[in-house]
Amino acid sequence: MTTTIDIDSLDWNKGGGLLPAVVQDADSLRVLMLGYMDRQALQATCATRQVTFFSRSRNRLWTKGETSGNTLELVAIETDCDADALLVRARPRGPTCHLGRDSCFADAPHDVVAALDALVVSRVDAPADASYTARLFAGGVRRIAQKVGEEGVETALAAVAEGDDALLGEAADLLYHLVVLLRARGLGWADVQRVLAARAGAASGG
Ligand code: AMP
Ligand code: ZN
Ligand code: ZN
Ligand code: ZN
Repeated sequence: MTTTIDIDSLDWNKGGGLLPAVVQDADSLRVLMLGYMDRQALQATCATRQVTFFSRSRNRLWTKGETSGNTLELVAIETDCDADALLVRARPRGPTCHLGRDSCFADAPHDVVAALDALVVSRVDAPADASYTARLFAGGVRRIAQKVGEEGVETALAAVAEGDDALLGEAADLLYHLVVLLRARGLGWADVQRVLAARAGAASGG
């Protein structure tokens, strides 16, 4: 996925100078909103790194968040197979929908662990008394690793001796502490996903 896109290679004629742009959260992969970009909007987006659309209702360039402050910081843009649509990956500052929701599509699914990882990252440099996560980081890798071990055992015990709610609760505890442990080592959920994807590729592709 590239952040520099060849504007002239896009199919601007089909949609009367506008391309639909699907915006996706770069971390959680949640679909956030759909907007339209003309050449100028795409140029502005790439130049300023703030996602900018052409507003069809206001008939002018519209930088998302220009009044609300809920901007979208550009991470990457790619075009679809026939160059008449855009996929924009961005990091949202605040809720993207003007109704106060993260996404304009109320039930858009997302990777909850990836979203948790993004939240955990924001606690890495927080003061130790700021949150439970900050306290875990202050305790160091050894202490966090011990917690992961404990939650692993609790998950295993719940699987053989407890009901579904208890097992799911322990599994959630385990995933949370695992995300914190990886971050304490400077690694993220995306790094784990890369390993899993490579294995899946190796398994299916030979
Ligand atoms: P903003 O760009 O967030 O400062 O919002 C400015 C105006 O754009 C709002 O008052 C809404 O009318 C509209 N707006 C904001 N966000 C969206 C969105 N995700 N989809 C459609 N319209 C929006
Ligand atoms: Zn297309
Ligand atoms: Zn909305
Ligand atoms: Zn537990």
